[in-house]
Amino acid sequence: METNEFRQAAHQLVDWMADYMENTERYDVKPSIRPGAIKNQLPASAPIEGEDFQKLFHDFNSIILPGMTHWQHPQFFAYFPTGASGPSILAEMLASTLGAQCMIWLTSPAAEELEERMMEWLRDMLGLPSSFTGVIQDSSSTATLVALLTAREKKSDYQINKNGFINNRFRVYTSSQAHSSVDKDVKIAGLGINNLIKIQVDENFAMIPEALQEAMERDVQQGFIPLCVVSTIGTTSSTAIDPIGAIAKICLRYACWHHIDASFAGTALVLPEMRWMSKGVENCDSFVVNPHKWMFTNFDCSAYFVKDKKALINTFAILPEYLKTPEDHLVNNYRDWGIPLGRRFRALKLWFVIRSYGLRRLQEIIREHITFGQWLKEKVIAARNFELLAPVPLNLVCFRYKPDGVTDEKELEEINSKLLQTLNASGKILVTQTKLNDKYAIRFVGGSEKTTLEHIQQGWRRVEQTALELK
Ligand SMILES: *Cc1c(COP(=O)(O)O)cnc(C)c1O
Repeated sequence: METNEFRQAAHQLVDWMADYMENTERYDVKPSIRPGAIKNQLPASAPIEGEDFQKLFHDFNSIILPGMTHWQHPQFFAYFPTGASGPSILAEMLASTLGAQCMIWLTSPAAEELEERMMEWLRDMLGLPSSFTGVIQDSSSTATLVALLTAREKKSDYQINKNGFINNRFRVYTSSQAHSSVDKDVKIAGLGINNLIKIQVDENFAMIPEALQEAMERDVQQGFIPLCVVSTIGTTSSTAIDPIGAIAKICLRYACWHHIDASFAGTALVLPEMRWMSKGVENCDSFVVNPHKWMFTNFDCSAYFVKDKKALINTFAILPEYLKTPEDHLVNNYRDWGIPLGRRFRALKLWFVIRSYGLRRLQEIIREHITFGQWLKEKVIAARNFELLAPVPLNLVCFRYKPDGVTDEKELEEINSKLLQTLNASGKILVTQTKLNDKYAIRFVGGSEKTTLEHIQQGWRRVEQTALELK
């Protein structure tokens, strides 16, 4: 592509982007299409000759866009929000234009040093201990894997990296409400899924520390070695908050690594009034939060903080001749802080976001989102035929429709599953489901920048109305 052609096309796309951001609400949140509908419109083989950009853009509009779920739609209330914002998108434009690999200091000194500074800013913004060092990972799933591998190597005196597993006696603990990435990571780390012990939760879906203590004690007596506890601040099902402080004390007793998964809810720690969630965090070994969820930063940007930086680097360091540089002892070479060698310039978008909003504005927005959750919680409690199924510490509300006289669990599940499908088929709103105490629950969470209380109110009216009209 000639530079001139690029310039023209880029201007055209920026206009499209601004229009999209202004009018996201015009689209159905989720397309109503069948599997294969998009693929069938794409030629079976690659073009031999290059094609014109206008043709590409035309096909983007006619084939791709109708098949997209619009995560930035203000009535996207499903899963957890995924961040995007003007400043973040602009930074991504620059980062992709620079096209740099940020694996070691020498390959992009500014990227490395900005990442160091951004992780310090973020650590302090979230009230994390100054003894923590941060690094950006691609996702929480990776960050938790990095924590497990570091715990494994530290505990085995780096022997498993050398010799592989001989006879694994390590055990990992997490609550029954933990994210599925913990299961996946335990498998990838070679620890064996049968050595992941799911600890019981209380009526608020938070891990019961006494149950953890019992499980660990039983394991130790049977010759197992407690390796790591993964606690969650804000579970995916219901944003339950594990008692970090009490769990940390148990971990100290067993010299066990304590990793905190605060992927979504960690952002709320910008609010001093929410710091109760992280009480005791200074005794933890590692912590992950995803600015790409609730901090208006585009995927991917997962901030991983670790207390023992040396153990992290000892676990991952490699130093082939072709990567040696004279500055190795003076700088961070982030290729040694995680799994991939190549790394995107992700600190740039965080810098743009934090500077554009400022801490005060970020706090205002997060605080407002939490009031959305509290508003909806009150509505659900007050509604005659609805039932709240979990506490609402933040902005996620889990509820179900419970028509008069219906008590059978299976019937309630069918009714609520139908309600959810009808809501989502409308294209006006998107919600997802979970199971809480074996009860089918609808999850409703508003956390994108464009979402206002009015959108939440409209969404709730639609839920009530649709439930009434269910046949
Ligand atoms: C979203 C989420 C994850 C997974 O995050 P990725 O960055 O997509 O890997 C893990 N844990 C919790 C609690 C989450 O909410």
